[in-house]
Amino acid sequence: MKVNTSELETLFEIQRDILAQRKLVAEANEIRGGGEIDQVRDRIATLSEAISDQRLRDEELERDLKRLENDVELVENRLIKDNQRLNESSSSKDIAGIQVEIESLKSRLSKLEDDELELMDQVEISKAELTRLQAEHLSAEAELEAAKSDLQQKLAGLKQDSDRLISEIQSLKTQVTGELLELFEARLAKGIAIGRLTGSNCSACNMSLNSTAMSEISAVAEDELCSCPECGAILVR
Ligand SMILES: [Zn+2]
Repeated sequence: MKVNTSELETLFEIQRDILAQRKLVAEANEIRGGGEIDQVRDRIATLSEAISDQRLRDEELERDLKRLENDVELVENRLIKDNQRLNESSSSKDIAGIQVEIESLKSRLSKLEDDELELMDQVEISKAELTRLQAEHLSAEAELEAAKSDLQQKLAGLKQDSDRLISEIQSLKTQVTGELLELFEARLAKGIAIGRLTGSNCSACNMSLNSTAMSEISAVAEDELCSCPECGAILVR
């Protein structure tokens, strides 16, 4: 097949652009599968679970506190009634009995109030933990949005570079005859399609060609298509 140097140089440029474009696609796939976004998503899911657990704990503590407050109220009411009975009673036996009951109620009340204070502390701690988890959740969500927009931006940049290369490749292809282009594309599907011969070195396979191979190459006329005897790549001589 007759070829001219300018066509071969164009093929060289096409190959360079195609390899560069493939690299961009690989880079885009790597970024997409990078897992950074998945990691943040996992963290958000874990936080959501922790928040819902914490909320349940919080509700339980609030219920306990309410129960305790009711108990306190009951004991207080009984104390009021007992004190009224004490004031109205004239029987010393009754008075003694009521006094014993009042003492016992007072001690019960004091115990309940201690429990109430302790539970209020726990409620406060629980609410602080819930607030902390919710803030962490919010910040993880902001992080996810930022990571997503960063990814979109990077992918858009890669896409732009890739589109530019594709259009450059299309335009370069019009400068090469059909038959040569077909041969080039068939070779490129298997590996490096075209190499430059520098001295006895083929840049496609990086082999230093021996004298037999060099004589084979010299036997091919300057305007004829010549391939590397080692790797079969089209040679620019
Ligand atoms: Zn070669």
